[in-house]
Amino acid sequence: MPCFLATARPARLHLIHIDHKPNLVPTLIKANNVRQHDYRTFLVINTIAYLGIAVHFLLIPLFYLLNLERLAFINLFSFLAWVLAWRINNSGNHQWAIGLMICEVFVHTVLVVPIMGWNAGFQYYLIGSIPFSLFNVKFNGRLIILTSFCLCLTFITLNVLTVDVVPPSISGTFLKMINYVNTMVAFAAIGIITYYFRLASLALEHDLELLAHTDSLTGLLNRRRMQEVLERQKALFLRNDSAFTFIIVDIDHFKKINDTYGHFCGDLVLSEAAASMKANLRKGDVLARWGGEEFLILLPDTDIKGAHRVAEHIRATIADKHFVLEGKAVSVTMTFGLAQYEGNSIDESLKLADNALYEGKEAGRNCVRGAASINP
Ligand code: GH3
Ligand code: MG
Ligand code: MG
Repeated sequence: MPCFLATARPARLHLIHIDHKPNLVPTLIKANNVRQHDYRTFLVINTIAYLGIAVHFLLIPLFYLLNLERLAFINLFSFLAWVLAWRINNSGNHQWAIGLMICEVFVHTVLVVPIMGWNAGFQYYLIGSIPFSLFNVKFNGRLIILTSFCLCLTFITLNVLTVDVVPPSISGTFLKMINYVNTMVAFAAIGIITYYFRLASLALEHDLELLAHTDSLTGLLNRRRMQEVLERQKALFLRNDSAFTFIIVDIDHFKKINDTYGHFCGDLVLSEAAASMKANLRKGDVLARWGGEEFLILLPDTDIKGAHRVAEHIRATIADKHFVLEGKAVSVTMTFGLAQYEGNSIDESLKLADNALYEGKEAGRNCVRGAASINP
């Protein structure tokens, strides 16, 4: 879901797009036997299969009416082969489905072109088989080059052998029409395949971006991404003079939690605390994992007083919460250091918040401390 940093509090509204592009790739699983990462392959095979089934289904009566019973018969087998491939795909064996479809295209072309001639355009389907074969993960680079070479050789051989072949009992105009329809269907197939390749590359880009900007344990923004967000917020401040405040949050005695309950329980506390903090922030606020057991909250259009209220609310929520570790209800507390940004460098403001946090730790932890203004 796209997330916007809405710096609205409450009079102004500035939008910074801080999160990820919407996921353009459908990720739902519709067929029982289809694993999520195979879903795109499943979709492209099914779409191409519908096209193949429809084309061969229509060719059966067409050839029959043209008194080309042999071709009608071939297309009946082709139709059955495509239905079988569609079924194989739905049972989860995508690679076999692709293999069967490519074999069918090859055999169909080799059988039909010598009868219908080059000018009927049935050979164009060979070209679409090359990008389609790339969806078969069992195909390595060498096999793809070999397949392309064989298909090219077949294409040229068919041209040499059939360029002068005139199909029986078909007028020149009708032959042209068949050629145009074949050309259109072949282009449509290549278009569909290319579209799915584009989806695949967008999905990959999206996943990589997500990976680069997200902390894997908590799902929050990571430090690097948060630094970018802070710089953008600073630019907004300089343009619009919109106040914003940072809160550095540190879990108290976290080492003890690790030592007592183990690292796994420590991780659990981190992710639950992150979720709890997030649930208590507004949509425009930004929460990031800043370090080991440290978090950073950015509150746009919020002065230090407002931030103090937010921090106090989160502090009390976490302190009241029970974390269940190894069957025991355990209390966890956090200390909060606040600093309002005042036009200096981001690092200086962060240092102020860090100093305030240190004061809070010194004062006994489980409290909120704000940095004094540097511009009194
Ligand atoms: P204080 O109240 O002064 O903050 O004490 P503390 O124990 O929380 O702070 P300290 O800096 O002494 O220890 C932080 C611990 O957090 C040490 C480190 O092993 C642990 N830690 C850092 N990252 C992770 C993590 O991802 N998972 C787990 N389980 N522990 C982590
Ligand atoms: Mg710490
Ligand atoms: Mg700590």
